Amino acid sequence: MSSEILTGRLAKEHQTIKHMLQIYCKAHCQAELKTNGLCPDCLSLLNYAEQKLDRCPYGESKPDCARCPIHCYKPQPRAQAKKAMIYSGPRMLYRHPIEAIQHILDKRRPIPEKPPAGASQYARRKANAKQKQ
Ligand SMILES: [Zn+2]
Repeated sequence: MSSEILTGRLAKEHQTIKHMLQIYCKAHCQAELKTNGLCPDCLSLLNYAEQKLDRCPYGESKPDCARCPIHCYKPQPRAQAKKAMIYSGPRMLYRHPIEAIQHILDKRRPIPEKPPAGASQYARRKANAKQKQ
């Protein structure tokens, strides 16, 4: 289950979030019905994250979420995501080492300047669709 809308770095980040939620969900959520290893709660958090990635004003130059000055998550999903990341972060090194290392490298990149309007994937997709009309 990869993102159907995201591309490039944002698609990779979505993949990493999915893996982190799967690790968390496996250890914490008792739901009988899981989709791709995710209970309904974790799945809806992943979908929320996908939408936020799609609309991230930084687009491809997105900084790592923890240091981002924008804080686009609402408090409830933000707390839920934080809890899951704290648990799965250290475990990612064993389960998905390349993604874990990539994430560590991302944290070292400087935070980019505030992006121009329309840099999100969402905005660029809309603009492209308009051009084609
Ligand atoms: Zn879960």
